[in-house]
Amino acid sequence: MIRTVLGDIKKEEFGNALAHEHFIIDLDHVRHDGESKIETVEEVIPEIKKAMAQRIEAAVEVSTIDMWRDVLKLKEISEKTHLNIVCSTGFYLSEYHPAYLDDMPAEDIAKIYEKELTEGIDGTDIKAGIIAEIASSPKGFVGHEEKILEAAGIASKNTGFAVSTHTGIVTAQKTVDILLNKGVNPDKIIIGHQDLINDRDHHLSLLRRGVNIGFDTCGKVAYQTDETRAHNIMFLIEQGYGEHIVLSNDVSRRTYFTSYGKDGYTAVTNKLVPLLKEYGIKDEDLNKLLKTNIARILDN
Ligand SMILES: [Zn+2]
Repeated sequence: MIRTVLGDIKKEEFGNALAHEHFIIDLDHVRHDGESKIETVEEVIPEIKKAMAQRIEAAVEVSTIDMWRDVLKLKEISEKTHLNIVCSTGFYLSEYHPAYLDDMPAEDIAKIYEKELTEGIDGTDIKAGIIAEIASSPKGFVGHEEKILEAAGIASKNTGFAVSTHTGIVTAQKTVDILLNKGVNPDKIIIGHQDLINDRDHHLSLLRRGVNIGFDTCGKVAYQTDETRAHNIMFLIEQGYGEHIVLSNDVSRRTYFTSYGKDGYTAVTNKLVPLLKEYGIKDEDLNKLLKTNIARILDN
């Protein structure tokens, strides 16, 4: 089953999905730029509907506890749009970590994750369906980042739910090491944001370890063109890894919305997918990227 904010569903019911999104998020309490947040159901629903018009039916909402995740709003969004939404338990980058993590061993942090996966979140009966997005800083693990990742490994091993990460090239292999050392099934690991790294040898070195990788920042062309993303995906499919790639947009601020002239939640369906088709992707491979891979990873 896949654990959504409206309850458990069969993996066949999940549908075409975005594997790493934020619908309700606040990074502004650390960044203070006035933009790094999405606060209301009303502002995000029209943006979600634009992706649904392109046959998106589901999303993994990876906002963490310290991104001020709001599961009641996610439930409301799911009820109003009929989008299947999986919500997350986890912590993000060091600068966002709450002070109570300071003296908490990994085993106790794992208990927080496990409670949110199996009992409920913030006093509700809404449960997380994944441990995400567990972050490490660009130049290496900082502060408690290693500890929150170890905790994710413990909770995944104990519950069977998947772990999805926010990871750069420096910490990618160590992230996999830590999770595998805790006994996590490699197919329950998504190493996120790997489309920001234009290095096929790096992608292959992760995929050979049995983990999945996220091409999950589509449309963020200031960092990487969608053409490069699409070419790299086609290469990895040719190498036999079409079952281990998931797609998303990672919209983390309202200024990425279509109402601000950007692609919002539609870069995958409106930009990346047409490029993949132009480069000759087979329907069955596209179906894996959009639908069956993420459903398999979430299924528990
Ligand atoms: Zn994210």
